[in-house]
Amino acid sequence: MVLKRGLCHIDWYRRRSIRGARRMTELGEANMGNRPPVYILGAGMAGLAAAVRAAGLGMRPVLFEATNHAGGRCRSFFEDGLNRTIDNGTHLILGGNRGLFTYLDEIGAAGGLTPMHPAQFPFRDMADGRTWTVRPSAGRIPWWLLVPGRRVPGGRLVDYLAIMRIARAGEDAPLTDFIDAASPMFQRFWQPLARAVLNTEAEEASAALIGRMLAETLMKSAEASRPYLAPKGLSAALIDPGVAHLGGIGCAPKFGVRVKSLDFAGGRVGALETETGVTEIEDGAAVIAALPPGETGRLIPEIEVPGRFNAIVNVHYLLDEAPENQQKRHSEARFLGLIGSPAHWIFTRGDVVSVTISAAGALADQPAERIASLIWMDVAAALGENGTRMPRYRVVKEKRATIAQTPAQNALRAAAETRFDNLFLAGDWTKTGLPATIEGAVRSGQKAAGLAAEFSNNRRK
Ligand SMILES: Cc1cc2nc3c(=O)[nH]c(=O)nc-3n(C[C@H](O)[C@H](O)[C@H](O)COP(=O)(O)OP(=O)(O)OC[C@H]3O[C@@H](n4cnc5c(N)ncnc54)[C@H](O)[C@@H]3O)c2cc1C
Repeated sequence: MVLKRGLCHIDWYRRRSIRGARRMTELGEANMGNRPPVYILGAGMAGLAAAVRAAGLGMRPVLFEATNHAGGRCRSFFEDGLNRTIDNGTHLILGGNRGLFTYLDEIGAAGGLTPMHPAQFPFRDMADGRTWTVRPSAGRIPWWLLVPGRRVPGGRLVDYLAIMRIARAGEDAPLTDFIDAASPMFQRFWQPLARAVLNTEAEEASAALIGRMLAETLMKSAEASRPYLAPKGLSAALIDPGVAHLGGIGCAPKFGVRVKSLDFAGGRVGALETETGVTEIEDGAAVIAALPPGETGRLIPEIEVPGRFNAIVNVHYLLDEAPENQQKRHSEARFLGLIGSPAHWIFTRGDVVSVTISAAGALADQPAERIASLIWMDVAAALGENGTRMPRYRVVKEKRATIAQTPAQNALRAAAETRFDNLFLAGDWTKTGLPATIEGAVRSGQKAAGLAAEFSNNRRK
């Protein structure tokens, strides 16, 4: 009953916000001036989603971003050495990411992501060359678990039944409470899943976070499990349309404006200071901090934040551009999971092959050339490329890609509400109940915007 009411509430916000966002675009910036402002710190996915939702709910978002671009940890850039636009890291998005797809509807950019057909996850074990494909079934009943050809070789039905128990796992339980770490299923299913979804080794991963993700995707339907890729890059699909939408309604983010400090008085944020001056927070205006955990802790010292992070390394190789190879590549699988290799996931986009190493640990401290050559042989073997000559590459190291998603760190995630009336938190690391992903970031932003609108409305009554 409570759950049903909760979902209705989300739906109500969603419908109102999409209607609001469309109306906003029609009206342009004309009616913005007399709306209550909401000051949003950080233009990553959480901050953008918060700004778009807040505008749809009748507020005027004022977005401060420290760097000269939006997107934070989810962005593209032009790499001169490869003469290509690449992503800081390939991001896997699934059909069940309903917060993200709502955001894309709100900004009129639903077509920027390409669904993969069929919905499946191909793997290759580099030790014995074995290949298999996990193929979730279409309906709401996950009967694919019963069909050997759709699951992992060596996995027993009992291993899959653990999924049901993991879906109900307590917050403090590690994944290893449910799965035997010595079983083939652990290395072939749970390890790649934990790395991809939690950026954390399965041996220390939180069971509750994996369970929540499974319930919304692989255990729901093929549609909810369907991978989506951004063919023109993350910025073109998710970030630029959000920035353009905000610009179109007169709320363009303020780039290169770092918030230096917050001034607290009388149980509320009274002012915020940037390099360019002090902004007074008027009565009825709200503040949303959509920042990484360290920066949130610096600005609001009384908030405890997770302090352990895991790195993700991406290596982007530019394959040779001979036309016959181009054609072959376009018909190949666009992503592949590797087992028994330091390279975890391979994504191909035209002549660029991007390889993800999650929970990269000490590998992230190695020189770029060593990392690129260490994994190239496996990548070439998996793709049927010539492994003797390493192509041009670019290594991107994100040392603080996400928080470590262990039960202990999960317990430190902060709620959206704070003890300050007009201050709300967003960000992938906040207490969403979800893994620290794009979806978690977006939903945290949408929730914070809803709370800010409620606060402002109450103040105006
Ligand atoms: C390499 C890599 C691969 C990933 N792969 C996936 C994946 O496959 N699937 C998935 O769903 N997720 C993935 N993620 C995680 C995903 O990118 C993040 O969860 C998400 O982007 C976090 O968004 P955010 O808005 O919470 O935080 P951020 O993106 O960190 O945004 C915070 C923003 O605040 C700004 N800022 C900081 N301090 C200040 C200040 N004082 N004043 C103003 N602005 C400030 C920052 O510049 C930044 O723009 C990956 C992340 C990385 C790094």
